[in-house]
Parts: sequence; C-alpha cells; structure tokens
Amino acid sequence: MALDTAPLLEVKGLKKYYPFKKGMFSSEVGYVRAVDGLDFTVQQGETLGIVGESGCGKSTVGQLILQLLEPTEGEIWFQGKDVSTLGKSELKQARRNLQMIFQDPYSSLNPRMRVEDIVGEPLKIFERYSKKERREKVVELLRLVGLDTHHLSRHPHEFSGGQRQRIGIARALALNPKIIVCDEAVSALDVSIQSQILNLLRKLQNELGLTYIFIAHGLPAVKHISDRIAVMYLGRIVELADRDTLFASPKHPYTKALLSAVPIPDPLLRKERIILQGDLPNPAAPPSGCHFHTRCPYAQPVCETKSPELMAYGGGQVAACHFPLEAE
Ligand code: SF4
Repeated sequence: MALDTAPLLEVKGLKKYYPFKKGMFSSEVGYVRAVDGLDFTVQQGETLGIVGESGCGKSTVGQLILQLLEPTEGEIWFQGKDVSTLGKSELKQARRNLQMIFQDPYSSLNPRMRVEDIVGEPLKIFERYSKKERREKVVELLRLVGLDTHHLSRHPHEFSGGQRQRIGIARALALNPKIIVCDEAVSALDVSIQSQILNLLRKLQNELGLTYIFIAHGLPAVKHISDRIAVMYLGRIVELADRDTLFASPKHPYTKALLSAVPIPDPLLRKERIILQGDLPNPAAPPSGCHFHTRCPYAQPVCETKSPELMAYGGGQVAACHFPLEAE
C-alpha cells in the first residue's frame, strides 16, 4: 500500500508511436499508436495493475518504464527525476532500480545456464562481489523465493513452471530494485500455481517494501495483488481507480465488460457476462471519437465523433466516457 505522498514514479503524456511505411520509397503513411498519451503515478510500496486485451499497449508501457524503449513523446519521472535527462551513471543506477519479471518462465531463462549463474548474472554485471560473496547472495535470494541451496547447480528444465517463475523473481530481486514490472507474470501458470506466485509477490512486497506494476490481460490476477487498477483500451487509459471502487462501481462500459468475465463462486452473485462484439480494432486505424464505440453496448451518435476526456469521479477514480455508468 502507498506509504508516501510523493510518487516514486510519474508518467506524463507518454506516447509510443510506430511509423508504418508503404510504396517504392517506403514513405511513412501513418502510425500505430501503441501508447497514446498516458498520465499516471505510482506510489512507493503500492501495486498498480494495468489491464486490457492483447494489443492494447500495456506491455509497451512496461518496456517504456524500464527504458527498453524510447518514448515518442512524454516524460517518465523516477524518484523525482526525469529519466530522459539522466547522465550515464544516474541512468545505470535507475536501471538497477527498475526490474522485470517476464511472462514465460520457460523462455525467459537460458536453458544452458545453471540457477546459480542465472540469478547471479546481474550481480556479476553490476556488483564487485567475489565468487564466494556472489554465491552467498544467490543462496539468500533463492531462500527468499522458497528455493534452496541444492537448486544452485540445476538447469531450468529440471524445474516446474512455478519454480522457474521463482527463479525469475530471484533474478529480478538481485539488485534490490525499487520497482518491479511484472509483465503477465502468472499468465502462463496453472491457476493453483498462480495463487502461490501471487502470494509470494505479496510477501516479498511486505518484507522488502517493493513497488509493483502488474500487467495482465484479465482482471482476476490483477484483483488479488493491485491497490489501484488502470484499464487500457487501444493505447489509452479508459478508467483508473482503486481496486475496490473499480470492482464495485465501474464507470466505463469496457471495465464493466472485463469485470463480467471475472468468475464469481457464489451463483447468487453471478452477473450476466457481457460479450464484446468483434476484435480489438487495428491500432493503426482506431475508430473515430471514442475508440470503444464500435463495440460498446451503450454507444450514442456523439460517441462516433467526439473523443471523451478522462473525468474525475472522486476518490481518485477517473474514466473516459460520455455516458458514465451509474452504481448498481
Ligand atoms: Fe461507450 Fe460512448 Fe462511453 Fe465510449 S463514450 S464507452 S462509446 S458510451
């Protein structure tokens, strides 16, 4: 949960456009707007969930924050500094503090490396530890994530999916980062293993004061770990609120549709599932007006021509819709 009022991370007007080219002379004829003007903050110690369908730009946001991609426009402020203005050594320090846990624990670990080398690799690059010190640190990291000394000499194929994700988490923790971007970190795992990994992430957050940006395509995983949730559609945030408000009183029809897909064990509380018509539109040619109007069950003529701005509804909830939903 948030511990401080000054944000640890602040994103302002963030855009990432990819030009696409056509013809003999490869002239630019347009842009894919992967991320199209995002503003949000992340407080020290909180988890911000980012949710949306594949292709909505959520993973690109993670890569921009980690400095793996250069923004087309906009600013990313980390610990009160605009990262684009940092010198080489300050940028190196910022990179240490921003780590990632990847979606696929099968392909994100080098199959030829032993666990000791996988987890110790960031330490080898960034720290001047002796071999013995590095091994001690790796053992400490493995214990933190529920693995043991006898795992040191094993290779990734000798582990289950959940154990591999634990190795990935240990590697992400090696440099004592401030923020970890979890990009679909549990999506490839069985449901029972997902909850073990989510519990581990929460435990580590409490013990180490970590801040997470938790990216996922569905709300169930995001619900269990997030303090606040941003819902993205075609490169834009369409709603952002604290978790309980978002689940109890969504303002945007797209959020409501995502919520209707979340399984509810109690049959008396089950809601009718809203099936969205059609696929996510092409981000290179998004629909006019409200990008969601081609799939929205509440669309009115104005939605085709006028793009809705994010409006505040109190308690930090914002949503971009001309006809926000009333609480049920
Ligand atoms: Fe639906 Fe219109 Fe709201 Fe867009 S602005 S979400 S089309 S009601």
